[in-house]
Amino acid sequence: MLDKEVQTQVIVVGAGNAALSAAVAARERGADVVVLEKAPRQHRGGNSALTVHMRFPYDGMADLTPLLSGVSSADLRRMTDRVGRYTRADYYDDIMTVTEGKSDPELAEVLVAEAASAVRWMSSYGHTWIPTYTNPVSANVVSFNGGGYGLQEQWFRTTGKLGISVHYDTSAIGLLHDSRDSITGVRTKTTQGYCNFRGKAVVLACGSFESNPEMRARHLGRSWQNVKLRGVPYNTGDGLTMAMESGALPYGSWSSCHASPQDLNRPAFDVPGPDIRGDFWSRYSYPFGIMVNLNGHRFIDEGETWRGLTYAKIGRAILAQPQGIAFQIFDRKHRQMEVIRGYEEATGFKANTLENLARQLGILDIAGFLYTVGEFNTAIQPGEFNPFRLDGKSAIGITPPRSNWALPIDTPPFEGFPVVCGMTFTFGGLRITPEAQVVHTLGHPIPGLYAAGEMVGGLWHGNYPSGAGMMAGTVFGRISGTNAAEEALQNNK
Ligand SMILES: Cc1cc2nc3c(=O)[nH]c(=O)nc-3n(C[C@H](O)[C@H](O)[C@H](O)COP(=O)(O)OP(=O)(O)OC[C@H]3O[C@@H](n4cnc5c(N)ncnc54)[C@H](O)[C@@H]3O)c2cc1C
Repeated sequence: MLDKEVQTQVIVVGAGNAALSAAVAARERGADVVVLEKAPRQHRGGNSALTVHMRFPYDGMADLTPLLSGVSSADLRRMTDRVGRYTRADYYDDIMTVTEGKSDPELAEVLVAEAASAVRWMSSYGHTWIPTYTNPVSANVVSFNGGGYGLQEQWFRTTGKLGISVHYDTSAIGLLHDSRDSITGVRTKTTQGYCNFRGKAVVLACGSFESNPEMRARHLGRSWQNVKLRGVPYNTGDGLTMAMESGALPYGSWSSCHASPQDLNRPAFDVPGPDIRGDFWSRYSYPFGIMVNLNGHRFIDEGETWRGLTYAKIGRAILAQPQGIAFQIFDRKHRQMEVIRGYEEATGFKANTLENLARQLGILDIAGFLYTVGEFNTAIQPGEFNPFRLDGKSAIGITPPRSNWALPIDTPPFEGFPVVCGMTFTFGGLRITPEAQVVHTLGHPIPGLYAAGEMVGGLWHGNYPSGAGMMAGTVFGRISGTNAAEEALQNNK
């Protein structure tokens, strides 16, 4: 039996935010578009459907108000009092600070320059946002209405309206070429057998290799082989592998990734669904308490800076601790000041003495733990604690030091939460041009091949600013879709 053949103009691989941004942009330019998605329909949306927000620059409420939906005028007034500006320069600086200057300046510049316009473009397709300024955050003062799930469902409504067909249970397994090595389609495996989708341009937006234990062990190190995923099990690096088989140049930091503190009892992965909250298992209040390992030792500056600029590297720090586990410790003051957020169903213990808490948590060196807490408390400098700004309330003369939000752990009841490393996505990807064309190892763009989303290498190294993954997905998704459509339509003449 011959393989099934489908003819179109632009083929988009994946159905996350980057892919659907690409598909919509390509359709907008007048191309026929199909989307190929490995997951079944009921678990569609990729990691994008598990997210909260995207990071973009804004010049005050005038930029934000048109994006908001269902916000009372009282809330709007409160928001106006709290929200300032987040400039392009702030965004660029944050990217360069967290990546220690290693982010590709050209790609970072495109991201920063195109982000606000991409958000307005999304808004024109019915996406809405809600305020999140009441949380201690640096830049992400608004979040997707309905979370990442709401965002993705809106994209799927839009693709439906625009006549873009989405093929579920359809895994891309290889790229098709012509004799001059232009990309002419995608070979897939579906529940009905093999199918070749043929077109004039392909956008790869099928995630990084975070769900592939073999690739994790090979590129990140053996300790990453059995790590828990925060997201979908489908992103196994297929797009990266097939692009490199076609000559694509790997680029960026293949040995680092985004990984954050997660509840000890989180499942091995999550799949999107209407009742799944992507951040349900995240334990992100660590900047206000302390974090210790099984020996009772602190191992990072918990309050180095805003949580959104540190959390992505903290999973790695936890994985490096004995047995890959750590404990977040708080006291009554943290509860009273409401800085322990989103821990309603967290795995955790409470006790009236630090010793009892340590015993319940299973900390091996209880005396060591008591020493750590005592030393930390004594090292705290005078100053006012304020979770809404970098308050400089530090603890000095200890290792590691503490830069902000240091409160003594001395008032019962004490609380402790065991956490492990949760893998979000990997940073290594493909080299692309600012036009989102995939670059060949010989240095030229591969005709007909584009990439977007987590498949793009070079932006993130060792760390990452929260919200930038989704934003990069839309920016480069939109660019790749537009250019793929233009190439396809040109070649159709
Ligand atoms: C729990 C969680 C919370 C997060 N929160 C945020 C946040 O608030 N803000 C933010 O900016 N980032 C957040 N991130 C990161 C964010 O999810 C990514 O940056 C973003 O989703 C990347 O988009 P993408 O389209 O590249 O990938 P995805 O959304 O993962 O989409 C990739 C798609 O490709 C499909 N696919 C894979 N292989 C194949 C194949 N061979 N053939 C066909 N299809 C295939 C997958 O099934 C998937 O649907 C979070 C991640 C997680 C896991």
